[in-house]
Amino acid sequence: MFTYHMVAWRIPNDPIGNALTITPQQLRTQLETLQRLGLHTMTAANLVAEIARGAGLPRRTVVLTFDDGYQNARTEVLPLLRRYHAVATFYLISSTIGTARHLRWSDVRALKSAGMEIGAHGREHVDLTELDATGQFAQVNACRRALRRWAMVEAQTYAYPSGRYNATTLAVMRRSGLAAAFTEDYGEVRSLSQPYRLPRIRVLRESAVPAFSAIAEAVRAGS
Ligand SMILES: [Zn+2]
Repeated sequence: MFTYHMVAWRIPNDPIGNALTITPQQLRTQLETLQRLGLHTMTAANLVAEIARGAGLPRRTVVLTFDDGYQNARTEVLPLLRRYHAVATFYLISSTIGTARHLRWSDVRALKSAGMEIGAHGREHVDLTELDATGQFAQVNACRRALRRWAMVEAQTYAYPSGRYNATTLAVMRRSGLAAAFTEDYGEVRSLSQPYRLPRIRVLRESAVPAFSAIAEAVRAGS
């Protein structure tokens, strides 16, 4: 399962944005790699559902997740996904929808109509470990409510902002009824023994093509 942020031709100057932004060309090369290797894409919710029903890990499958709901999810990412018959999961921060450089609700609905999963990433992009249980619940619930109200989406999965979580978060998640939640701890999802601390693999621009190809080759080989 891969984690993306911005996909844009203009690379931001700030250190984090600079490291995490990949170009549309890099994404295209990655999607070509998946096609060449005969790998499939699946949404995070579908992956979790497959594992939960005891079907085991889907073979030759990768999950692409895009965090933070940037406008380029619609303008750059969606056309490429369509072109390569791929699906992805988009983790959205409800308070940023409709703000500068971010998706509008009409974009969210378009992603949903195109078969993409819309997941929750919080009301604001805050570190959950700095909030008490009530504050964490409010972040989770307000985001889910907004998705329900404006996009008729019932979020199935969650991604923690900056991957941050603590024991309170895990308790909040267990009570939330969400199927799973994702951290930014590095690793492959192999089981649902810890459904609210599932790992992902961050895609960094510097290594976007070679690192992705190496992982895709490993998925194909079934390792
Ligand atoms: Zn984020």
